[in-house]
Amino acid sequence: MPMWGDFTCRVLAGTLGLGTSGLKSKEDLQKAVKRRKDRESLLETLESIVIAFVLAFIFRAFIVEAFVIPTGSMAPTLYGEHFEFRCSDCGYKFAVGLEPGGLSTEPLCPNCFKGQRVPEQPRKYSGDRILVLKYLFDFEEPRRWDVIVFHNPNDPSVNFIKRLVGLPNETIELVDGNVKINGRIAYKTDKAQDTLWMRVHDTRNKATRMEWVPRWVLGPPWATRNAGFVLERAPEKNKVAWLTYRHRGTSGQPENIMDFYAYNSTGIQHRRGAAVVTDLCLRTEATASHASSVIVIDMRAYKDRFRFELTADGSDQPSRMLVNDKPVAQAPGGVLPVGRPVEIEAANVDHKLMLLVGGRRVATQPLVETTQEGDPIYEPTRLSESERDRFDNPPSDELRYMAAEVRIGARGGPAALAYLRLDRDVYYLNETMFRTRGEGNAPGHATQGNPFHVEDGQYFVCGDNSPKSFDSRLWDLTQPTVPRRNLVGKAFFVYWPAAGPHGGIPIPVIPDPYGWRFVR
Ligand SMILES: [Zn+2]
Repeated sequence: MPMWGDFTCRVLAGTLGLGTSGLKSKEDLQKAVKRRKDRESLLETLESIVIAFVLAFIFRAFIVEAFVIPTGSMAPTLYGEHFEFRCSDCGYKFAVGLEPGGLSTEPLCPNCFKGQRVPEQPRKYSGDRILVLKYLFDFEEPRRWDVIVFHNPNDPSVNFIKRLVGLPNETIELVDGNVKINGRIAYKTDKAQDTLWMRVHDTRNKATRMEWVPRWVLGPPWATRNAGFVLERAPEKNKVAWLTYRHRGTSGQPENIMDFYAYNSTGIQHRRGAAVVTDLCLRTEATASHASSVIVIDMRAYKDRFRFELTADGSDQPSRMLVNDKPVAQAPGGVLPVGRPVEIEAANVDHKLMLLVGGRRVATQPLVETTQEGDPIYEPTRLSESERDRFDNPPSDELRYMAAEVRIGARGGPAALAYLRLDRDVYYLNETMFRTRGEGNAPGHATQGNPFHVEDGQYFVCGDNSPKSFDSRLWDLTQPTVPRRNLVGKAFFVYWPAAGPHGGIPIPVIPDPYGWRFVR
């Protein structure tokens, strides 16, 4: 662990500098004093060395400990042993987990679904190395969405790392990929949400291959410009000119957005994803070229339609959000400067709408009904089983049954969008487990329709790579949660991300400073 060695060295250098500084003598007396001082400073130095070692030891043993991520159950937040690819078409860089069978099928680029050629001897990368704050939980309670290290409740000799989603005495249910606590959707923290957005498509990674079909469908008079789009003149009659996202799967045919994980894409059963995802985030850098220009973003999730309207400086209308054509929130801080590009982020996630302009949150309100306590809640419009099925498995010619739609447009004046990037939220899968004794398959803990009560002093944990995570959903009936005494600490920093080994050297030798990051 080079970090600790480094720390010790710096402490030592500091104390040595102090111990040998500043004695000049001309007289015998001064010489005697010097000898005594030298002796003292030597002792001081020795003492400092001992203290430095003791401190380093204490620091390492009691405050922070280093762990290596063994598996991909937390991908893409943290990588286990993996391979790295840069898409041969669109240039997007992504990681693929190490499977027992090696790279048996071509990994798929998550941005353009190009199958990647596997080299003869693909370079294997070790798991991320992380620092864990031990004993933090002696001073503060573990919080939902913390990434925690703990002794596996079913085999305490093994350390696991997962995300904390259910706290003691809560009833938890995973509904449509979201976490419901005591019947209400749990909002992710901003930091956890930033980590849990996963790439769907970014126009800055442009695919050029023959069979490639562009994802954004341009309505007139939009035109492409580099990675973005430009509207040179206002659309007619105050209509919105749209750019519509059309998701396409591996076949190139229109398809719903799924919980696809590139990290799992060499496994044949993971090459599509298992669930339809409607929690999405659209990012762009927009320019309202005139005070009358309005940027409009529409997101649809099943039967519900969400709209973000961003007006420009000088307009008499404020920026606002609408749900099913009903205005639900105004965002006076979300006004666009005229003629100057600004970052916009619009999301429908965890039953709420979020709008950020210039990196600043200008509105978060969901729609809304309110509870008796006055909290806003949003319940999606209910669907019958057959409606849901038509949305999730649309006949190929019936595009209108696509579960989610995203489009962005402008009205009233010219506008430009430098790029368009779409991400999807993590989707916690409802899993069934196979009971070795008894009647075969049973629903996993906290799956939809099977709310799970977390006992006092226990924690319910899930991996970010939901399809490949063995966690509280699936652990044995007798011990599906993590007792407090099993907690080791909170993961907080990746200090040696996924380095080497290179050319068969068995230890990771080249750290990647660009991957140093906080775990969120
Ligand atoms: Zn690609």
